[in-house]
Amino acid sequence: YHTLRVLLGDQLNAAHSWFRQKDDGVLYLIAELHPEATYVTHHVQKLCAFFLAMEGFANALEKAGHAVSYLTLDETKRDTQPQSHEEVILSVAAQHQITHIELQQPDEYRVQQHYQEMMARASGLTFSLVDSEHFLLPFDDIPRYFKPKTSVRMENFYRKMRQRFNILMAGEKEPEGGKWNYDSANRNKLKAQDLAAIPEPLCFQHDAAHVLARLERHGIQSIGKADSQLLWPVTRQDALRLLDYFCEHLLPNFGRFQDAMTSKTPHSWSLYHSRLSFALNCKLIGPKQVIKASIKAYQDNDDIDIAQIEGFVRQILGWREYVRGMYWVNMPDYQEQNALNAQRDLPSYFWTGDTKMHCLSSAIGQSLDYAYAHHIQRLMVTGNFCMLTEVQPEQVDEWYLGIYVDALEWVEMPNTRGMSQFADDGWIASKPYAASGSYIQKMSDYCGSCHYKVKEKTGELACPLNSLYWNFMVKHRERLGKNPRIGMIYGNWDKQSDAQKRAVLNRASWCLEHLNEL
Ligand code: FAD
Repeated sequence: YHTLRVLLGDQLNAAHSWFRQKDDGVLYLIAELHPEATYVTHHVQKLCAFFLAMEGFANALEKAGHAVSYLTLDETKRDTQPQSHEEVILSVAAQHQITHIELQQPDEYRVQQHYQEMMARASGLTFSLVDSEHFLLPFDDIPRYFKPKTSVRMENFYRKMRQRFNILMAGEKEPEGGKWNYDSANRNKLKAQDLAAIPEPLCFQHDAAHVLARLERHGIQSIGKADSQLLWPVTRQDALRLLDYFCEHLLPNFGRFQDAMTSKTPHSWSLYHSRLSFALNCKLIGPKQVIKASIKAYQDNDDIDIAQIEGFVRQILGWREYVRGMYWVNMPDYQEQNALNAQRDLPSYFWTGDTKMHCLSSAIGQSLDYAYAHHIQRLMVTGNFCMLTEVQPEQVDEWYLGIYVDALEWVEMPNTRGMSQFADDGWIASKPYAASGSYIQKMSDYCGSCHYKVKEKTGELACPLNSLYWNFMVKHRERLGKNPRIGMIYGNWDKQSDAQKRAVLNRASWCLEHLNEL
């Protein structure tokens, strides 16, 4: 071989130009790495999903006639010591006397650093780095849209992307349907009569027993419920089936119930969400293809209105590309941000779901069961709770990065530290996503069967979110009071008597002091 081409677990893009031609002189390397499996404690289903997807991709490449070296955890240890990615790459190159190594642009800063150090250190080798050919926005264009430590609004970026890529446009400048954003039509609650219609999620049944055994053999720590039948898509064919299923059964109601939460059906965990994030993030499927297929379904199907398709396209063309830009332009600073100086520890029920707060136990419980929660559960249930209780952003990041099947730092960190914790002081969000129990009640049926009373602010049965919300708002009044999007909320606080205010803040103090008992 004259060239070694390295693929990471999140670079399983069969449409990449690397694979257009077969070349007997090229060896592809895909390796299960100990450091990647352990840099955070991952959900066991996430580990299985990545390893199965990598293994399947290696097999598919080989079937297509490419030469592949697939190394399992068994083979990426020397003696008893786990090898770094660099050690694995260099030893495979040496073994085959290869002197030219090709890499794809990684999505994570950590890996980019690793690559740069390797390239600077290695002697007698040449390297080249190519685009991963996945995102719509080319990597080199990121600085044209984003500036470090500066707030860039998603909505502005999204409109530019719609125009640049001519997606859902009527002509060059105007949005299809006359409006750029149908967010206000995306906030319906699921009523009792809506529950029966929620489609069963399309789940796969991949045999993961051999991966589980390997994880066990190497003592890889994990969280969450292990399942020898993995339900996540791990091949391109799976991803395409999931996309078809979404377009046919879920897209017609996607926007409408995008923010809704329920615990009253067996499909509460999935609802109308696509669950394509894992397949997208490891690049089994590309965002352009997902957007194209969903727009075609909208054009062909009268059941899908503009508010549904726009809501979906906004997530992928807008949010997903936007957080990637915000990540890269702000790394490594992003990982240091703690604007609200949050210093508490994450409560222990984040690892068990064992709390009396029904919203939290539902969102955490399903995350442990499925390695998945949808956006509003992540943002407004667990995220909101962590922000109101001032949990250290490092710990919050670590939890999100570990537990979700789709969690990779480039997308996890801006969403968690930025959007959900406001630790970046508003680079991403124009205001903190802080909410009391009334938001949870408005968007879900969680409160009805909760130990706590959502209407109460004080007393031992009062929903903790109510007093914690006011405690947070009062504490950060100086910072937030001037914000035009929330300043007026303080009028409601000022109307309360001193005794009422004191009682609410006392209840909040009690909750903070007894965080692990809530
Ligand atoms: P759908 O609801 O069907 O949405 C379709 C697609 O849009 C998703 O697959 C995803 O690719 C994209 N998308 C939607 N919202 C966002 C967003 N805010 N940022 C980026 N892409 C988005 N997403 C991840 O992929 N990985 C993460 O680690 C991650 N961590 C998050 C942490 C927090 C605190 C929050 C609030 C959100 C996080 N998200 C993350 C974004 C979002 O919650 C998930 O993308 C989504 O829930 C995945 O489920 P789905 O595929 O069913 O999404």
